[in-house]
Amino acid sequence: MNHKLTVVIIEDEKNICTFIETALENHDYKTVAAHTGKEGLSYIASLCPDVVLLDLGLPDIDGMDIIRQVREFSAVPILVISARTSESEKVAALDAGADDYITKPFGTSELLARIRTALRHSQMSASSPKSSESVYRCGDLTINFDKRLVTIADREVHLTQIEYKLVSLLALNAGRVLTYDFIINHIWGPYADSNNQILRVNMAHIRRKMEENPADPKYISTEIGVGYRMREPEN
Ligand code: CA
Repeated sequence: MNHKLTVVIIEDEKNICTFIETALENHDYKTVAAHTGKEGLSYIASLCPDVVLLDLGLPDIDGMDIIRQVREFSAVPILVISARTSESEKVAALDAGADDYITKPFGTSELLARIRTALRHSQMSASSPKSSESVYRCGDLTINFDKRLVTIADREVHLTQIEYKLVSLLALNAGRVLTYDFIINHIWGPYADSNNQILRVNMAHIRRKMEENPADPKYISTEIGVGYRMREPEN
């Protein structure tokens, strides 16, 4: 008998909740739905789920408080279900400890992809970090982290040190969004100017070197107002 992965869904809109439950159960997940924050928190504490899907606008507790409370006792991946317009809310949720977000309206395949990414990263950090992940492959792009070598269709892409750091940071977190502040902190350190200009300039250079069409990037996408996301690797 195989063990089903458990997803706790905290969402007060019943039709969205039902849609998610159906989609996940059809793909062999076990789901538990909560329509209030209080209920959701108690399920997370008692069931120790593998993933949490969290709507931020709940009738009783602010979703942001739920993230903070869960982070006091659990590292379970939290995916925020977010409205399209609220970039600052997405950034705040990520800063509070959410792993990623999914924007309404979303389809089944996007939902499943986000959940798989979250599970993959939580399993990676639970086992020895990075050891199994020394090469990233997606389409024509290959990144060999040991050799610090980036190739497109077997041709080396010549990146500066900063550009390589950026690309490898995104690739090690492939499938997840990384916020501008998170990236700047990692690459330039905590005292760096938090204006995004330098990051944008570097990203433009990277895209010119790596993307067939830099205006419509295949590998690194921009999440407007939030950050960047590298495509899931293909194994
Ligand atoms: Ca809601």
